Amino acid sequence: MKRTIAIYPGSFDPPTNGHVDIIVRAAKLFAKIIVAVTDNSNKNPTFTLAQRMEVLRKSTVHLPTVSVECFSGLLVNYLERKRAVAIIRGLRAISDFEYEFQMALMNRRLNRKAETVFLMPDEANTYLSSSLIKEISRLGGSTRGLVPPSVEKLLQNKRP
Ligand code: ADP
Repeated sequence: MKRTIAIYPGSFDPPTNGHVDIIVRAAKLFAKIIVAVTDNSNKNPTFTLAQRMEVLRKSTVHLPTVSVECFSGLLVNYLERKRAVAIIRGLRAISDFEYEFQMALMNRRLNRKAETVFLMPDEANTYLSSSLIKEISRLGGSTRGLVPPSVEKLLQNKRP
């Protein structure tokens, strides 16, 4: 797998230590990782595309083979354009499995070359999700140690 490019797509709204955990693991397996932030306005993100991309760049600055881009449209078309061979997705719990399984098979149906590779984060990151982070912060709780420091600042600015 060492000579190949993999795409790690997601909304990253906002990025958490769980996302960074997956990026670090993927970077050990593939020659190049493109973290692809979805520019999907239907999802009505809390953070702007620029904010999400900047945080991801800062959090992966120590990983020279990782780049951060944005994409819209079908993931399999983007994969083809980038000459990537794999889609990286994180699996936290059984509850992730059904949706991820469906997406992986649909992507392969759309492009038979599109393989999805699932990686598990450290146990300490398995209960982390972007939506839970936003909820904790909104209710005044601390997110220290759960998200990159730049995300903590963004969350603080969002507080009423
Ligand atoms: P999407 O809207 O595409 O699901 P997310 O940003 O929520 O985007 O997630 C992107 C990927 O990262 C998904 O595969 C998700 O399962 C994975 N992921 C999210 N949080 C974690 C975590 N704490 N640990 C490992 N993987 C995670």
